[in-house]
Amino acid sequence: MNQKGLSEKDVMSMLDKTRSKDTSYDKVLSAMCTRPHPIAVKAHMQFIESNLGDFGLFQGTKELEEKVITLMGGLLGDPNACGYITTGGTESNIQALRTARNLSKKKHPNVIVPSSAHFSFDKVADILGIEVRKAYLDSEFKVDLGSVESLIDDNTSAIVGIAGSTEFGQIDPINELAELAGSHDIFLHIDAAFGGFVIPFLDKKYDFDFSVSGVSSITSDPHKMGLSTIPAGGLLFKDVACLLPLEIDTPYLTIRKQHSLTGTRSGASVAATYAVMTHLGKEGYKKIVDKCMKMTRRLVDEVQEFGITPLIDPVMNIVALDVPDIDNVRKRLRSRGWFTSITRSPRAMRLVIMPHLTEEALSLFISDLKDCLRD
Ligand SMILES: *Cc1c(COP(=O)(O)O)cnc(C)c1O
Repeated sequence: MNQKGLSEKDVMSMLDKTRSKDTSYDKVLSAMCTRPHPIAVKAHMQFIESNLGDFGLFQGTKELEEKVITLMGGLLGDPNACGYITTGGTESNIQALRTARNLSKKKHPNVIVPSSAHFSFDKVADILGIEVRKAYLDSEFKVDLGSVESLIDDNTSAIVGIAGSTEFGQIDPINELAELAGSHDIFLHIDAAFGGFVIPFLDKKYDFDFSVSGVSSITSDPHKMGLSTIPAGGLLFKDVACLLPLEIDTPYLTIRKQHSLTGTRSGASVAATYAVMTHLGKEGYKKIVDKCMKMTRRLVDEVQEFGITPLIDPVMNIVALDVPDIDNVRKRLRSRGWFTSITRSPRAMRLVIMPHLTEEALSLFISDLKDCLRD
């Protein structure tokens, strides 16, 4: 570290130079995050010093967090849901399954997840010492109910359903999973990290949230399609008793108990989430989701004209395209500035149509893809 401090001007110009090495979102079709809404950025800055790890000092921010949870609960089928704003889907999934594990009091706990589950569940397995069992998918990449049922045993602490899978954007049959979980008296967690701010605004209606009886907890990330700032994840429970296993005494703070995984935690992204949710309202989010879905539809229709088909008809703004010679095509697209990603099994080109993508960029991508197939 330098002995003498540099001037603000020198530091900022260094940062400007470095920041320009970061990718701008313009040609990114691989990310589930996007540019935050300007009002979220403003609110974030206004609450930049707020620490919800010691919320006795930040009663105002704490109030906002409770309001955000009520708003999110309202979107997810129960305005009386409880919970807190996490650092993201990973923390929410860890905490949900920690609750489930502790409530179930099994000697050798296991959880059953679809094999389409996000890699955060591999962290869950390691951190919580739970065996994570992966159920097969059906031909539409939804979890196979027979496979889930065959994996249930006396040590099963939880079943996980995904509402908006990371790779395919598919929604598992949540009603049927809830029936299965109910008949075995097992905790049911829904991972809607991506789908939580998409599915409520789709024209087609899906049962995926607390309106399904038997759903115990939901992960939904404001920092993805919620257009909030990072880090903003949401963890919601149907029943306040689910928070008890997470409670830890905090002897030297202004509060007595804490149930977050992290200690010190940002209140800024909580304020950002409150600001963008109240500013956009349901109509605002619906417009954004409509636009992403319209562009997703256009992408699929236009690539089909030159023989590229999606693995499933897109459910949300995520598509997996069956592209021949995929590695080389992706390389060629990369050399034209495009960031794409892949699905694991089967290998397909995974594209996420986020709000930062413009119609013009999409047209350019489609024509570049067509060229890159021939190169
Ligand atoms: C993105 C995602 C996660 C992980 O969320 P982070 O905010 O990156 O920790 C978990 N589950 C699903 C389904 C996701 O799409």
